[in-house]
Amino acid sequence: PKHQVFVDQKGFDTIIDLVNHYVSTKEPLYAQRGKEKVVVKNPIPRQKWELMHGDVDLTKKLGEGAFGEVWKGKLKKILDQKGDPVLVAVKTAKLEAMTKDQIKELMREARLMRNLDHINVVKFYGVGAGQEPLYVIMELADGGALDSALAKEKFPMIKKYEMILQAAQGLAYIHEKGLIHRDVAARNCLMGGGQVKIADFGLTREGPKYKMDMKKKVPIRWLSQETIKEGWYSYKTDTFAFGIMAWEILEDGKEPYPGMKVLEVAVEVPKGYRMSFNAEVNVEFAEYIKTNCWPHEPEDRAVMKDIVKFLKTFVKGQGGDPGKSGVSCLSLCLYIRI
Ligand code: ADP
Repeated sequence: PKHQVFVDQKGFDTIIDLVNHYVSTKEPLYAQRGKEKVVVKNPIPRQKWELMHGDVDLTKKLGEGAFGEVWKGKLKKILDQKGDPVLVAVKTAKLEAMTKDQIKELMREARLMRNLDHINVVKFYGVGAGQEPLYVIMELADGGALDSALAKEKFPMIKKYEMILQAAQGLAYIHEKGLIHRDVAARNCLMGGGQVKIADFGLTREGPKYKMDMKKKVPIRWLSQETIKEGWYSYKTDTFAFGIMAWEILEDGKEPYPGMKVLEVAVEVPKGYRMSFNAEVNVEFAEYIKTNCWPHEPEDRAVMKDIVKFLKTFVKGQGGDPGKSGVSCLSLCLYIRI
């Protein structure tokens, strides 16, 4: 059979999860449990976003992800408008090195991302689940991670405002699709074609509210009081984190709350402490972020759609580019067939 999945006894539950999500065919699907070969019942029809490993050539290692290496690659069968193979980024993941929760996280990321199509959101192209390691194939962002780009290059002020607007557009789009990102931060954005792109959907949940297990490790410096104190997430906790990310962009990728220990942040932010912006930052802009992203009560924070409106007007007023909008140039998912 074409689709054979080899797993050991221990991994069997996990692979069933995987099979239900990804590996699908009209033929019977076999899984190997120890020495025994089992037919997987009720396989779902193959999805158009499933790719075979052979459809992708990996060309260069880009970085290290949470589950495995991230590679630059080429889609062999799919050509762009110029007739060249489409360049992609491939997250590889070794199942044996992952916990069940991590596999779920990776699959959730792929499942949520495949419905998103916006220039300021990293585009998901497909999944290669036919063999190990798993491939998660997405748009290549030539500029790499936003935090490293900010640390490497000194962007002019107007460019930084444009970048903040781009991120806002991406996040507003994600919210429009009913998703809470839950990990908005410069380290989780990429730069591609000069545009900021929201990435890393590992923690993303369907909205409007999500209560986290309080034992989980969290990035305190990006959180609002209701998450720190009670573990609540909502569109408005994304708004708060977006304000922190705007600060990161304006401070060339510095860590938020400089000079403060994490524990201090966890105590002081719920009491009302907020960061200030450097002297170069437009006063109206700084005030807007403070009063619209950082209020104590979530209901007093603005929705991302309104923040985009403000930022478009603001960037235009500063003589900048008020941004492209809409879908990304190439909606590859439509063309991918095995
Ligand atoms: P994980 O979420 O698994 O930790 P990341 O998304 O942080 O993995 O990816 C690790 C690194 O790989 C990033 O810092 C970045 O340098 C590179 N990378 C990830 N996705 C892309 C992409 N789509 N385009 C270009 N580089 C990428």
